[in-house]
Amino acid sequence: MSADWIARVVQTVSDVLGSPGGFVPLHEPEFRGDEWAMVKDCLDTGWVSSVGKYVDQFEAEVAAATGAAHGIAVVNGTAALEVALIVGGVRPGDEVIMPTLTFVATANATAHIGAVPHLVESSAKTVGLDPKALGAHLDKIAKRNGEEVVNRETGRRIAAIVPMHTFGHPVDMDALIALADHWTLPIVEDAAESLGSAYNGKPLGALGRVGALSFNGNKILTTGGGGAIVTNDADLAKRAKHLTTTAKTPHPYLFNHDEVGYNYRLPNLNAALGCAQMAQLETRLKQKRALAQRYQEAFAESTDVDFLAEPEGSRSNYWLNGLKLRPERAEERDALLVALNEAGLMSRPLWTPMHRLPMYADCPRAELAMAEELEARIISIPSSAHLGGFA
Ligand SMILES: *Cc1c(COP(=O)(O)O)cnc(C)c1O
Repeated sequence: MSADWIARVVQTVSDVLGSPGGFVPLHEPEFRGDEWAMVKDCLDTGWVSSVGKYVDQFEAEVAAATGAAHGIAVVNGTAALEVALIVGGVRPGDEVIMPTLTFVATANATAHIGAVPHLVESSAKTVGLDPKALGAHLDKIAKRNGEEVVNRETGRRIAAIVPMHTFGHPVDMDALIALADHWTLPIVEDAAESLGSAYNGKPLGALGRVGALSFNGNKILTTGGGGAIVTNDADLAKRAKHLTTTAKTPHPYLFNHDEVGYNYRLPNLNAALGCAQMAQLETRLKQKRALAQRYQEAFAESTDVDFLAEPEGSRSNYWLNGLKLRPERAEERDALLVALNEAGLMSRPLWTPMHRLPMYADCPRAELAMAEELEARIISIPSSAHLGGFA
């Protein structure tokens, strides 16, 4: 009976969580530090809006946490990606390489700036962009045209590669950086899910030319809504700050603006929340990893699903814990999702791949067989940090 294996998986998740009873969300924010005091300080002093000491502090702390020289706080992760793409060199009409298996924001940010997502294959090992498959794809469809790389099939310039670290699991960055260097393409990292993750000991976010983080309510740390751009390049950082603050040129009283800018800066109120949260990053990572380890041990002997472990050589923040159904179970993925959710254990599939969304269905793309397979087989299960105990 098929229901047997589904009942086993539901039981195992429930056991790991200590038979919680009631509803267990996929991912809840946690406020266990100075959030109240710091937000109150904004209200008490009137510094609630677009400038203030918490914005500066938050930017410095985000930069430090990602090993970047510069951080720029913005209103959300999508805005961070948009501006990261612009300062990374993407222009309207360009193509931007990204995995088809990503959250829609990666593609939306690209479309917002008039560029075109170019959808590529995922790796079974990392569930992120597959550098080997991308290398073969570029050999087939790309050509060099002076300084530029052009898609021979569309005639458009290929302007950047955007890896995304699914659930916090790092993409194979050494191979990707080698490939990007070979084609002289910049890497714009979508690190929205991976604050605190590391690849070969190096934090994610600033491994490419520029990266984007999200501090949305469902991410590992939150500012309510928020995002950040991180980079080691001082000129890019300056341009990003300029673009996100209406492109205003410094002047004691004149409103002078030298290009079409954005009002994307993060309010001080949100940054205050972010500062209180950043102080808890290490604790949060310990909790998340403790929960992941319990899931991993509980599913070690399972013949139905495999726990989605961090790739070798890397350290994941385990933003979300994933289970990968064995191929023979894939057909019953939705039945498992229904059973888990009915048991109060909130679970979700991966995202619908971008090439299956109506607005991106006609985008240029590579072979996407592995992405399709991963989408059919991977689900996420309750992952809030407190479920891992109070480290
Ligand atoms: C959350 C997320 C974003 C966007 O962040 P928002 O703050 O929600 O705009 C972008 N990319 C990925 C992969 C994400 O998970």
